[in-house]
Formats: sequence, structure tokens, C-alpha cells
Amino acid sequence: MIKINENYLKLQASYLFSDIAKRVSAFQRENPDINVIKLGIGDVTRGLPPVCVKAFHKAVDEMAEDSSFRGYGPEQGYDFLRRAIAENDFQARGAEIAEDEIFVSDGAKCDTGNIQELFSKDITVAIPDPVYPVYLDTNVMAGRTGNYTDGRFDGIVYLEATRENGFVPQLPQQKVDLIYICFPNNPTGSTATREELKTWVDYARDNKALILFDAAYESFIRDNSLPKSIYEVEGAREVAIEFRSFSKSAGFTGTRCAYTVVPKDCRAFDAQGHSQSLHSLWNRRHCTKFNGVSYPVQRAAEAVYSDEGKAQTAELISYYLRNADLIRREIEALGYTYDGGRNSPYIWVDGQRDSWSFFDMLLNKAGVVCTPGAGFGSCGEGYIRISAFNSYENVKEAMARIARQLQ
Ligand SMILES: *Cc1c(COP(=O)(O)O)cnc(C)c1O
Repeated sequence: MIKINENYLKLQASYLFSDIAKRVSAFQRENPDINVIKLGIGDVTRGLPPVCVKAFHKAVDEMAEDSSFRGYGPEQGYDFLRRAIAENDFQARGAEIAEDEIFVSDGAKCDTGNIQELFSKDITVAIPDPVYPVYLDTNVMAGRTGNYTDGRFDGIVYLEATRENGFVPQLPQQKVDLIYICFPNNPTGSTATREELKTWVDYARDNKALILFDAAYESFIRDNSLPKSIYEVEGAREVAIEFRSFSKSAGFTGTRCAYTVVPKDCRAFDAQGHSQSLHSLWNRRHCTKFNGVSYPVQRAAEAVYSDEGKAQTAELISYYLRNADLIRREIEALGYTYDGGRNSPYIWVDGQRDSWSFFDMLLNKAGVVCTPGAGFGSCGEGYIRISAFNSYENVKEAMARIARQLQ
């Protein structure tokens, strides 16, 4: 008899985006003349930078000729891209990362989901609340949790991000082995200072733990005092893996390219307590289960690091940050408190009522769609996430409607 992985039955169905869609279509049926503005789902809206499109086209043309055709590439990514990443994203900022510590992939979602298979089933995992759901669900699938009761999985150490701690979780009271953190954060938009990241790095070093640092939104950091990479913190190379993506930084959500950094001195321990190289393990996994990102996509990603590419992606991010500024100012003028929106495309608003009531009010009164914070974990209850990913005109119109209706 073929049996299933019972852990899948513990997963909570995520109704978040389908519930949102249902309420939006009901509203639209009753109000066919209102143009509903979506500031909900975390997807970019603007086209690829022209320099990436040009490189993409050129690489496709190369694939058409026998003389320049490329078949399977290196699983870890082409040297041209790994080198550009290491030099521009790390070495230029004083973070010592070598090109062979970069693993190019088709997404940070897959990488943050897949990485947990390198670790034993009986480790203790710490996961933020509220959170990007991938970290939690993949550990549930792997059998690292008990059942789901009262909004939480048994066996997980939840790192609460609240108003009191500025949405930067405190170190856990008990000893944990694997820690997920994400800054700038999705969904709260909060950022962490170098000193705050240092406390996590020190904790991991003291407890032989490992940090999984999701930096998918680093390109939104404009405050130069904030770290973009965890490797800007001393001692992080031994205790942290970092995930990055071209999805939000260059509009690659539908094109697919990301990378994971596993330093060669990054370690985990075997049953005898001997240190093992995570770089070797991840390399083995990547080569066994993944056959590389397509060549034209890697050329398009490489173009991000040209002078033109840097200017065009900076403009792209500035555009969304201008939207975020506008959202923040309007929310503040209405007397709500919020976090994020400064070095992040997300604004996390304290709705002063439950998340879904606030969602319904924005939809029904203003025709604006946001995301209820409760969908990201129990600490998200009472909050909504507004996303800056839309056109400036739409954001302006959405905020004007909200201001008219909520004043
Ligand atoms: C969007 C996002 C990513 C990027 O995922 P891709 O698979 O690279 O598109 C990673 N982490 C978080 C928290 C995100 O919001």
C-alpha cells in the first residue's frame, strides 16, 4: 500500500489569498463601476529593466546558433553571474564572500524551503510570527512539528514581532538550533540594525545554532547605516546562510532568478558533534536535485550589475519607495500608527480593530485591497499590510479614497 507523508495532513490550508479574492469579487459584483485598487499581494508590477531585456534577447539569439548554443550549465550558476554577485553585493560592501560561495537558483522561495532538508529532524526551530509562510510549512512537511493547536504548531519556537519590540524579535529564552530571520521584513516592513543582527550572530555562535537570513528586500534599504547582508556582521560566516532574489530587486518574479550564499566555513554538526561543512552538503544537494537556471535568465540577471543596470534597478526601487512614502504619509495623517515603508515596500498598519474588519472597511468604503495581518500568524492580528507594488497613480488614488472615507 502506498502511504503518504502524514506530516502534510498537519498543514493548515492557507485561505488567505483565496478569502481575499472571494471578498473582492463579491464587492466587485455589487459595485461594478468601482475600480478596485490592489495593494495586497506582494508582487511587483513594473516591467523588467531595459538593460536586462536586452541581455535576455541577446542570450536567446546565442541559443539559436550551434556555435554559441549552450546546453546544461553548471548547477551552481555560471561564473559570470556568481562573480558579479560576489563582487557587487558583498565584496563592495566589505563582506567577505567568494564567488564559489554563491549558489544561483530559480527562487528564494524554493531555496528557503529546500534548505531545511540538510538538517536533522530533531532540531529545535525558531520562526518569526508574523512570517512569510514558507519557513514554517516546509518544517511541518519535514516532520519537525507536532500538531496545530490554537493557531500554533507544537514544537516550534515562535519569535514574536510586536509593537513593543519594534517588530524585531528578541532572542529566544530557550536554546534553539535553527533560526529564520528576514530583514527588511515581509510582512512588517521592519529593518534590523547591525547591532541587532550581531546579537543573533553571537547567539548562534554561543549555541552552535544556524541562522537562515532572508534578504529578499535588501535593495529597498536606502539608509546607509543599515546592513544589507548578514555578512556585514563580524562572525556571521560560520553561522549564517543568506537568501537573495532578483524578484523584488529587479522585477524578476516571473523571470525567476535568485541565489543562496553558503560560506565555506559555515558549519553544522554530526551525531558525534563533529563540525561538517554546509557548503559541501548544499552543493551536493543542489547538484543532485537541480540543473541550473536557464542561460538567458542568468545573462539578464548579470545585466543588473552593469552601470546601466544599477541605475535602472535603483530607479525601479525608487519608484516603489515613492509609493511607500505616500502611503506612510497618508496613514500617518489619518492618525494610525505603522511600521515599515521606509526601507521596505510594505507598510504594516495597526488597524485598531481585528485585521479582517479593517480589510473589509478599506474594501467596502474605499475599494482598496490590502492584506489582513492575521494571515501571517497570530501576532499579525490587528494589523494590515499595505504594499507599495502598484503604479504611483493607483496608489495616489487609493490613498485619496482612503483619506476621504476614514477622515
Ligand atoms: C518575495 C520573497 C522572496 C523571493 O522569492 P522568489 O522565489 O525568489 O521569487 C523571498 N522571501 C520573501 C520573504 C519574499 O517576500
